Amino acid sequence: MTWDVKIINGKVVSNGDVFEADIYVKDEKIGAVTTETLEGESAQVIDAKGKYVMPGLIDTHVHSRDPGPTYKEDFAHSTRAAAAGGITSVFEMPNTTPPVNSPENFDLQQQNLQQKAYVDFGLWGICLGSLNLEHIQALNEKGVIGFKFFWGYAVHKETFQLMYNYKPGMENVIPPFDDGDVYEMMEEVAKTGKLFAVHAENNDLIQKLTNRVEEQGGRTYEDLVAGRPNLAELLTVNTGIEMAKATGVRFHVLHVSSGEALESVRTAQAGGYPVTVETCPHYLFLSNEDYPEVGPQMKVYPPVKYKKDQDAIWGGITDGTISHVCSDHAPHTEEEKDGDLWSIPAGMCGVESMAPLMLNAVNEGKITITDFVRLMAEEPARLFGVYPQKGSLQAGTDADITIVDLDKDMVIKREDLHSKSKVTAFDGFAVKGVPTETIVRGKVVMKDGEITGEQGYGRLIKPVAEKAGQTQA
Ligand SMILES: [Zn+2]
Repeated sequence: MTWDVKIINGKVVSNGDVFEADIYVKDEKIGAVTTETLEGESAQVIDAKGKYVMPGLIDTHVHSRDPGPTYKEDFAHSTRAAAAGGITSVFEMPNTTPPVNSPENFDLQQQNLQQKAYVDFGLWGICLGSLNLEHIQALNEKGVIGFKFFWGYAVHKETFQLMYNYKPGMENVIPPFDDGDVYEMMEEVAKTGKLFAVHAENNDLIQKLTNRVEEQGGRTYEDLVAGRPNLAELLTVNTGIEMAKATGVRFHVLHVSSGEALESVRTAQAGGYPVTVETCPHYLFLSNEDYPEVGPQMKVYPPVKYKKDQDAIWGGITDGTISHVCSDHAPHTEEEKDGDLWSIPAGMCGVESMAPLMLNAVNEGKITITDFVRLMAEEPARLFGVYPQKGSLQAGTDADITIVDLDKDMVIKREDLHSKSKVTAFDGFAVKGVPTETIVRGKVVMKDGEITGEQGYGRLIKPVAEKAGQTQA
């Protein structure tokens, strides 16, 4: 027996434990995690002395805009950025051009991303109400990772693109779906057993309050939040929870930004309902108080809220209400993003800086290293039905491994990012804790910040169907 890779002297982090062990990799799979020295030469030996060795990190919320406005970002760039940031799998959001709204477009997107991927990837399917209700079951069978619904967003009639700055009366636009449409979508997704995940901001309230703010000439960060307040998130989350109770769908709240919405999820979970919630680094490491220093770069939707919300979200991280942390990686060009707060688009890079920020939180004592692995690898894999193939170090599963140096200092710099557009609210943030190796199915795709992987190496990940009882394809 010869091994492909042997990782020695590291501290392994897995299932809430930290222990010294070596990891043996053969044919893209974990061969063994053991304190014994196994026989056989290894083609590659990685000395992880002083470092933590963990299941490969997963980013479940990535917008690579490919196909679509690829002048902002594309899948080759975003998956290089992922590799650089210790991420071994990304789940790509479906609001591309065309969107992942049908089995045909699922296939097209798989072929498109396949040739560009540096890391493994899953595909979200999109819910477009009556426009694709008939395709939900077929998308499920194709292997979408979950279903995303952009609640409150209008859709372009011909391209099926989401309208980010919808105003009533626009031409060629299907207005936001109503609650009856949402109920019907939930019924359909409930049959699949997969997540119905929503962007949760009530559009009616946003329209009303934003108009009011604009009429008063408001242009500050506080005005932006006043137009999209905590109540907007709470209304949608509460409606979603009640409809999820009625339909039985697994309801997932994307990128929670407020304490109130989080509390609603906590209450639903206490009642035994399958309601889950994620958050992103910008809600954990920024609040309105950072705006004077950070500036318009931190504009995202839902907007980063107040310090009390930031504190509440940390509470959800430590008590387990929040299942996992993901980036909502959504770059725009530097030119687009370097403007007036009111006119620039929402969104920024995130896939590369997420792990360093969260590792810094480990060093600051906000979470433990086992929490880090739970939030960034184990729980996302479980939630989306790809565990233990992903998110574990069990023998026989994919050898996706991230190695981190918790003592290494780094300053996050805009110009160092691997994305096509290098926009981040974290430019200049000093962090302690950096991924030093990213290993995807036994192949080192990043070492000490250098990309060593190849474009086209990444493969599609399909979840194990929960309700249909199918096995992994
Ligand atoms: Zn998003």
